[in-house]
Amino acid sequence: MPNPSTGHDVANRERGTSADEFFGGQSYVEAFAPGRVNLLGEHTDYNDGFMLPVATPQATTVSIGHNDQPVFELYSATLGCSVTFRRDEAAPKGFARYIEGCIRLLQERDADIPNLRIHVNSNLPLGSGLSSSAALEVATLRALRELTGFELNDRDLALIAQRAEIEYAGVMCGVMDQMASSLADSEHMLFIDARTLETRLLPVPGGSEIIVIDSGMPRTLAGSAYNERRAECEAAAKALGVVALRDVTDVAKVEALPEPLRKRARHVVSENNRVLEACKGVSPERFGELMNDSHFSLRDDYEVSIPELDELTALLRESDGVHGARLTGAGFGGAVVALCRPGVGAAAGAAVVARFNTGGGRHAALLLPT
Ligand code: ADP
Ligand code: MG
Repeated sequence: MPNPSTGHDVANRERGTSADEFFGGQSYVEAFAPGRVNLLGEHTDYNDGFMLPVATPQATTVSIGHNDQPVFELYSATLGCSVTFRRDEAAPKGFARYIEGCIRLLQERDADIPNLRIHVNSNLPLGSGLSSSAALEVATLRALRELTGFELNDRDLALIAQRAEIEYAGVMCGVMDQMASSLADSEHMLFIDARTLETRLLPVPGGSEIIVIDSGMPRTLAGSAYNERRAECEAAAKALGVVALRDVTDVAKVEALPEPLRKRARHVVSENNRVLEACKGVSPERFGELMNDSHFSLRDDYEVSIPELDELTALLRESDGVHGARLTGAGFGGAVVALCRPGVGAAAGAAVVARFNTGGGRHAALLLPT
């Protein structure tokens, strides 16, 4: 029967089989990796810029044991779907590609990978913008590292995970998701410099709570607009005579550019400056203002918002105890994030979702706090 998520025939649809049931007494190793939500620094990664993601408490678990057949046998309890492919053949399209990429890229580095049985489970929503794909790659690489004893530091692991997503799953992605999944935790923000790959864990201002709401809006325009914005940023950098927009720190420098390059560059330069200010240890209130400014910049200059994301963030800003809110991820649908006083997130988030969904036809959902 074709699997709706992978588009491929699947032999086994025992949805929800646990790792213990899957391995049936056979020994296996297990590794976890979280998803991420980006607090500040959007559309900056491909401009060699800065970002501030936090790991989610939700995570993906990958369990790996030996296989006595010359195949890789994969099972996702999340999808209720299994895929088997021979060691010497490519994996079919779908979730197996992310895992295959991790295996092949380790083999390329001369890791001795045996025939494997792999079980995947997750409490992350798939495709909602919390980066379940990076969590899948990072958890797979962690489990492979443990099983084989292959030496790999967490930063290199993130870079291999990113390559797996680009080269095997065919998704052009920056490095933020995999770096966050591999190096962040849910108590800190992870400062990432996309050029130097320097990272630093920083406290979330005032121990604030994070709200994430999935707008439920389809991200139909996301792919084409993403490529268009990337091209515009490259053109703006070229016109300004710099390698990447990260090299421009004074926002006034972009004013001479023709539209729409002026607006695009103004977003990137101002967004990088917001991240750098946020890293200096600002109050939760100031951090909230920076998030609001980020949203307005993404809406007006980068033009990647939609009315529903504007509405959700406006509802969040009106809520008691919320410091600021913005769209998170590439835009055109996906999720919004807000920072709020500790303890108010669950009620504020639920109230905003209820107000937004009033009238029907809308399917926003609270993802954080859990
Ligand atoms: P996001 O990373 O924002 O959740 P993506 O579209 O990048 O969204 O990644 C989702 C894809 O990653 C899924 O369609 C699936 O192919 C794969 N994936 C992630 N987590 C799992 C899982 N637990 N089981 C199977 N596939 C998964
Ligand atoms: Mg992803």
